[in-house]
Amino acid sequence: MSQVISLTDRRDATPPVFVPGQPLLDMRRRPLHDLRISVTDRCNFRCTYCMPREVFGGSYKFMPHADLLSFEEIARIARVSVGLGVQKIRLTGGEPLLRKNIEALIEMLAQLRTPDGASVDLTLTTNGTLLAKKAQSLKDAGLTRVTVSLDALDERLFERMSDSKVNVKTVLRGIDEAARVGFRPVKVNMVVKKGVNDDQLVPMARHFRHSGHVLRFIEFMDVGTTNGWNLEEVLTGAEILKKIGAEFPLEPVPAQYRGEVAGRWRYVDQAGEIGVITSVSQPFCGDCTRARLSPEGQLFLCLFASAGHDLRAIVRSGAGDDVLVARLASIWGARDDHYSELRGHATTQQKKIEMSYIGG
Ligand code: SAM
Ligand code: SF4
Ligand code: SF4
Repeated sequence: MSQVISLTDRRDATPPVFVPGQPLLDMRRRPLHDLRISVTDRCNFRCTYCMPREVFGGSYKFMPHADLLSFEEIARIARVSVGLGVQKIRLTGGEPLLRKNIEALIEMLAQLRTPDGASVDLTLTTNGTLLAKKAQSLKDAGLTRVTVSLDALDERLFERMSDSKVNVKTVLRGIDEAARVGFRPVKVNMVVKKGVNDDQLVPMARHFRHSGHVLRFIEFMDVGTTNGWNLEEVLTGAEILKKIGAEFPLEPVPAQYRGEVAGRWRYVDQAGEIGVITSVSQPFCGDCTRARLSPEGQLFLCLFASAGHDLRAIVRSGAGDDVLVARLASIWGARDDHYSELRGHATTQQKKIEMSYIGG
């Protein structure tokens, strides 16, 4: 597997000076474009690669409700971030549809406008268990797109990977209902673990061909410290494409914008498009424009960061938006994170936040 190391490329010696009205750049000249908001650290699944039950079992202490940002607090941070350049907001978790009345938050976020008056691309990633019930209300609240995670079509394997009693049909019904209410295309995320669900690659591809949905294959990542990650279990994007392409010939689709996470491919026979997210074998830190807000208001600059920046304290201190703008500008300006380019090297830190806390 190739590792790309580019420790010195495009890095400024000092944080860039933020000029209001100009794009907010970090030390590697990456603008702040995307905000991922984790609304809860709870989940009704215990996916083995994300929340292994041995760790997230009955005695695990989830965040008390009072610690969570309220919807008003989230919306305020989002509004200030949009003023600084954010154009895409993704709600995630834990399982975001477990957060009570999430539609009310979506309604608030759907009102946001960028400095040039555009609305924000407002998306949500879900395990799909509650989607059939909620798709219409999410759409009515103003959500623009939805991504559903599904790792297998085989019921037994799905139960084993999600460590739940939910069946595949429930998730497929959620996807259908999302499409029916107008979320088209639905993106479907499949985390691929070598020797665990790689036999599902072709069945999943076959199932979603001609559906209009975009199936995206995600390399198993070393997020957090509890999922027992091991490089041996990573099936690379190249290997995934080879397996799918042998059955259904593929051709590349050019990227649409800077910072697009998934490499895009389409079936030569016009049966649709797929994506491959290669954060392990081909890191894309150079174009990473994402900040992540945790359920209790810590801002993380990288999925693999060990510490965040406390925005809740500012929001609850009574300080005005000018203070929040200045803090966000200084946090982002000093950002130098590029973990995936360093993966496996001595400088890689040991302590990392969990995926179920910060979201994908
Ligand atoms: N619960 C929701 C869901 O599963 O869609 C949202 C949160 S989940 C943390 C977001 C995404 O992260 C999911 O698509 C999940 O498959 C992915 N994910 C979790 N752990 C991962 C890992 N170790 N490697 C790669 N992707 C992972
Ligand atoms: Fe829950 Fe999503 Fe993590 Fe699975 S990947 S345990 S559904 S948060
Ligand atoms: Fe972005 Fe960090 Fe992932 Fe690199 S490792 S792409 S900086 S989140």
